[in-house]
Amino acid sequence: MFTASELLDINQLLIPENKIVIITHYNPDGDAIGSSLGLKHYLKAKGLDAEVVVPNDFPKFLKWMPEAKKITVGDYKRKKAWEMIDAADVIFILDFNASHRAGNLVGPWIERAEGVKILIDHHQQPENFDFVYSDTTIPATSQMVYHFIDAMEDRELVNKDIAECLYTGIMTDTGGFRFRSTSAATHHIIADLIEKGADPAMISASTWDTNTISRLHLLSLILSRIEIVKDGKVAILYLKRDELKEFGFEKGDTEGFVNYGLSVLGTRMSAFFMEDLYEDFIKISFRSKDDVDVNQFSRKYFNGGGHINAAGGKYFKNIYETIEDFKEKIEEENL
Ligand code: 5GP
Ligand code: MN
Repeated sequence: MFTASELLDINQLLIPENKIVIITHYNPDGDAIGSSLGLKHYLKAKGLDAEVVVPNDFPKFLKWMPEAKKITVGDYKRKKAWEMIDAADVIFILDFNASHRAGNLVGPWIERAEGVKILIDHHQQPENFDFVYSDTTIPATSQMVYHFIDAMEDRELVNKDIAECLYTGIMTDTGGFRFRSTSAATHHIIADLIEKGADPAMISASTWDTNTISRLHLLSLILSRIEIVKDGKVAILYLKRDELKEFGFEKGDTEGFVNYGLSVLGTRMSAFFMEDLYEDFIKISFRSKDDVDVNQFSRKYFNGGGHINAAGGKYFKNIYETIEDFKEKIEEENL
């Protein structure tokens, strides 16, 4: 958490005269949108107007969230997004650790911006901003936003909008309260969010019971050719661009696919390779169990990073060469 004196400084910045912008990472997920909107609604409850800017669009299944439709998407509204970031007195940086994770467009704008930058994030190796609250043991940035509200002694301000957003972020980043860093504190917070109006059945259905037929077809395709290597410890999944096109891929359709690899009995790591729809590289998602550190693995070989058990990366060969290189690297690892 921020120190007591940092909290005082931050409190003095949170005044109506200051323009406040909240930014999250490229390809925003449930925790990115949940923490950003949760913070926005908290600031609103304090009488402040904050705006959320995201680098590019986010999946449809997150658009039900309160005021999700008011988010400014950098890819679609470049001028507006840039002007907002440029004019901001205070910039909250949520759910990412380094400016470049906001993409080629918004990343450099963050670096150039003169506003006071406040980071709240749970990824490894945070860059140094004016104020940094970084904790890699917490499963979701949305949980950290709750801790921040608590530290500001504002828990009584938590209303239904805040509760729904933070609940969604915690639910998605913990894979439904299952992943390793899910703690007693997580569940205490979830209990409070339910008391403040978050409806677990509604939130889970709105976010997760949203399969389209095209998504199910894509899923059946990758499951039909899942490959298990390294003595049953590593699962490999992939999708090609022409397949994405054939099934009418939409943003978010492949979210969670990589987890199926880990559901195979005996696996300790899963890797999902996908040809990017527009650019010439392979986007990779890694997931792992226990002490298998995919953050290190991805940093070392695949130009990425993330958390110990969930990381991503990029590779600039064709998909078959990428998978071959992966198999070679994985043989050298002690899993
Ligand atoms: P996903 O597989 O869902 O894209 O990403 C899993 C985790 O790794 C997320 O927390 C995400 O922020 C992080 N991540 C994904 N891609 C990259 C990347 O290219 N670089 C870094 N540093 N982190 C990534
Ligand atoms: Mn997160």
